[in-house]
Amino acid sequence: MPEELKEDPKMYKYWKKRYSLFHKFDEGIQLDRESWFSVTPENVARHIANEYVCDVVLDAFCGAGGNTIQFAHTSKKVIAVDIDPQKIAMARHNARTYGVAERIDFIVGDFFKLAPTLKADMVFLSPPWGGPDYSDKHEYDLETMLEPKPASELMRVARTISPNITFYLPRNSRLDQVMSVAKEVGLAVEIEQNFLDRRFVAITAYFYEDHR
Ligand code: ADP
Repeated sequence: MPEELKEDPKMYKYWKKRYSLFHKFDEGIQLDRESWFSVTPENVARHIANEYVCDVVLDAFCGAGGNTIQFAHTSKKVIAVDIDPQKIAMARHNARTYGVAERIDFIVGDFFKLAPTLKADMVFLSPPWGGPDYSDKHEYDLETMLEPKPASELMRVARTISPNITFYLPRNSRLDQVMSVAKEVGLAVEIEQNFLDRRFVAITAYFYEDHR
């Protein structure tokens, strides 16, 4: 086990999941403590990447790159943004391990500041959920618990880039709030539940323009 996990016995359950997170884990995947509990498991990330295939995907909070790597398999280009340079370094290293780094533009920066300069066919949002304690709550409030800004603000900014927005959210998220943000930005939404080995891990909301 790596040093950052050994010190904390609670982390053993994350270590056991390492091949669900990255099947190439043993080829040198890098994760920091935060990424162990926040990276999207590979099968879930692959499924999301196959749901809406397009030329350019913007991964606005790329973290260690779990989603970015899968988007790079299905799209021509991925723009991967993260405010933390260490996360970008890890994501780049992990993308090389998967042989997809040449299709990804990595940018260190604040998504909210960069947004006016970014162009993409689809925006993927996987912002920090506030650590692993989110699931203890009966309901996850998207306006007060999501970091660094409420879901409505995040959607408003993403909507200026593209009407196609995929939002990866805690499984206990308030669905009425997902519906309200869709209405606010004038988009339709489909919500799916994501399971990994029969465990309910997250929900994904796919927003799009409904021309009917
Ligand atoms: P998840 O894996 O669910 O996306 P994390 O807790 O790993 O959740 O957070 C995602 C990433 O978002 C982190 O790597 C963090 O550095 C990054 N981040 C936080 N705020 C911003 C921001 N304003 N712009 C871009 N990236 C950000």
